[in-house]
Amino acid sequence: MLTAASKLEATTANDAEQELTDGFHLIIDALKLNGLNTIYGVPGIPITDFGRMAQAEGIRVLSFRHEQNAGYAASIAGFLTKKPGVCLTVSAPGFLNGLTALAHATTNCFPMILISGSSEREIVDLQQGDYEEMDQLAVAKPLCKAAFRVLHAQDIGIGVARAIRAAVSGRPGGVYLDLPAKLFGQVMNADAGKKSLVKVIDAAPAQIPSPESVKRALDVLKSAKKPLIILGKGAAYAQADDEIRALIEKSGVPFLPMSMAKGLLPDTHPQCAGAARSTVLKDSDVVMLIGARLNWLLSHGKGKTWGDAPKKFIQIDIEPKEMDSNVEIVAPVVGDIGSCVSALVQGMGGNWPAPSADWTKTVQTKRDDNIAKMAPRLMNNNSPMDYHGALGVLRTIIKERPDAILVNEGANTLDLARGIIDMYQPRKRIDVGTWGIMGIGMGYSIAAAIETGKPVLAVEGDSAFGFSGMEVETICRYKLPVCVVIFNNDGIYRGTDVNPSGGPDVAPTVFVKGARYDKMMEAFGGVGVNATTPDELRRAVNAAMDSGKPTLINAVIDPAAGSESGRIGNLNPQSVLKKK
Ligand code: ADP
Ligand code: MG
Repeated sequence: MLTAASKLEATTANDAEQELTDGFHLIIDALKLNGLNTIYGVPGIPITDFGRMAQAEGIRVLSFRHEQNAGYAASIAGFLTKKPGVCLTVSAPGFLNGLTALAHATTNCFPMILISGSSEREIVDLQQGDYEEMDQLAVAKPLCKAAFRVLHAQDIGIGVARAIRAAVSGRPGGVYLDLPAKLFGQVMNADAGKKSLVKVIDAAPAQIPSPESVKRALDVLKSAKKPLIILGKGAAYAQADDEIRALIEKSGVPFLPMSMAKGLLPDTHPQCAGAARSTVLKDSDVVMLIGARLNWLLSHGKGKTWGDAPKKFIQIDIEPKEMDSNVEIVAPVVGDIGSCVSALVQGMGGNWPAPSADWTKTVQTKRDDNIAKMAPRLMNNNSPMDYHGALGVLRTIIKERPDAILVNEGANTLDLARGIIDMYQPRKRIDVGTWGIMGIGMGYSIAAAIETGKPVLAVEGDSAFGFSGMEVETICRYKLPVCVVIFNNDGIYRGTDVNPSGGPDVAPTVFVKGARYDKMMEAFGGVGVNATTPDELRRAVNAAMDSGKPTLINAVIDPAAGSESGRIGNLNPQSVLKKK
């Protein structure tokens, strides 16, 4: 029989022989094994050391000033790379801050994994009031595609693998991975640990459409007199750029890019109907949706926007449940966009009939008229600037630098920039997405610079910028080639509202007049410029894009220039009572 003392000696000797690993290292190894080499997050209990160790092991760990911005960064990294963007947060409040971005990723179909440290299960479940106590898994579940918790070190490999698969397979989305504080320090045999890791094979398997569905879609398209193809951000995400171009050009059908699908084919392509949007939506008779949903952004496929003529919809999407969500889809094609579009192109054969010249001419004329009407307004050199004068400058800059990434948010700043600034390459325009949210600006800019290495131009309303403005410090800290242009019109929508009661407070939609956002950038060692004319704006942006130095340009816009809620003022509820 062994005495207690000799038992202890035996264990120690045994431990010395076997190499050990722990939760910290297993998580890092699992991420690296699966090519997840960048983490966007905010340090704190219980993940501070994890971030340090991850950096030591070669993972790029980018620290933000607020989890929501780190989360938005991770979400757009997912969109840009087709790999889940990883966001790392502390428990309860940090987790909740990150959760907004996780829900956003899910809504936008971007793959993302939110990893949050959490408090101890035993205490949380008995509600005994642990530090930052919260049942995070339960809170996350309804807001994401999938949620997992890992309790044992030997399950880390499986947990990370499940999170990756859930995020990128089928319709991509946000996944929550809950890691209780205790897990990080759990020790196990290094060999066994290594064997427990999982390299995910074929994380987003091709989903081939059925041949019947492809034939049905082609039959409907062929029957069209006035066909239209709508490209959505799913089409941009799919990275099937050549196939999509082949489909568009072989079919000869006019195409309309949704906001983040701009540039999939250049906006200047002869078949682009971007500047004839209302005409093509109203007058088309067959509409093929490729990675675009018939949600509010497309007026649900019905009503005034779509006109009275009967319409047939073909829809290509990886999510079968998307079909018939708003109107009848006569030809659903379910599969991944690359496979679906290839099958369509193949099915079209050698001599596909071009759409009637009547229709394509009508579309082209409308579009050329609209572009010609806009042109002189874009060339004005007014001071203070109006939206058109300022955006005319940025339009030229993107034309000259088509590989720059354009980040865009705001109300008028968003709606007008979307229409005015042409895009020339795929996945170069990233914006407010499905929810039309404010706050993505600096998170998106940081991730775009990190993931692509390209210069970033962020075109921001002054109000939109405020949601993530503190991250200019992050931009300066990592010396990122980001040029932020703030369309400063002193307020939300406009800077001219007055308090109707005559009381001491200013109106709820106005900000400090004449604010100098450029000084914020200077505070952290970046370049700040105050631009009052389109010429000044042009010089400052070009200098920033040439130097790659973090720059913030305060573009002084006429406070009276904007309109309420930009182009979506109709969504504001109206009171039937008379205004006082
Ligand atoms: P937009 O706002 O640009 O119209 P949406 O976000 O509404 O775009 O639609 C994107 C659609 O693309 C979603 O329905 C999603 O399921 C689909 N999708 C995303 N990735 C793929 C893919 N690889 N293959 C097929 N469909 C995809
Ligand atoms: Mg404003």
